[in-house]
Amino acid sequence: MKSCRWCEEIFESNISYQIYCSEKCREDATKEKIAQRYIQSRRQKRKGKNRLCKQCGEKLSIYNDEPLCNQCNINPGDVKKALKQVKGMSNDKSKRNR
Ligand SMILES: [Zn+2]
Ligand SMILES: [Zn+2]
Repeated sequence: MKSCRWCEEIFESNISYQIYCSEKCREDATKEKIAQRYIQSRRQKRKGKNRLCKQCGEKLSIYNDEPLCNQCNINPGDVKKALKQVKGMSNDKSKRNR
C-alpha cells in the first residue's frame, strides 16, 4: 500500500519507485515542479538585483512579487493613488522606457 505523492490516494503498486497513483497525477506533479522551478529561478535572478520599494525606497524581499514593500502594501489603495501621481509627474520618462 502506498499513498500518492500528488493526490494522497492510496494505491497498490509492485513498482517500488512508483510514487504517484496514476499517469495523470505524475503529469500534474511534474507540471507543478516545473512551475515551482520557474518561480525559483525568477527569485534567483532577483537576488542579484536591488529591487527597491516604489513607495519608500526600502529594499524588497526576493519573495515579494509586488513593486512595494510589505509596509507600503498594507494600504494598496493609497499606494495606487500615490503611484498615479508619480507616473503623472514623470510621464515622459515612463513612455520612453516602454
Ligand atoms: Zn494520485
Ligand atoms: Zn515601501
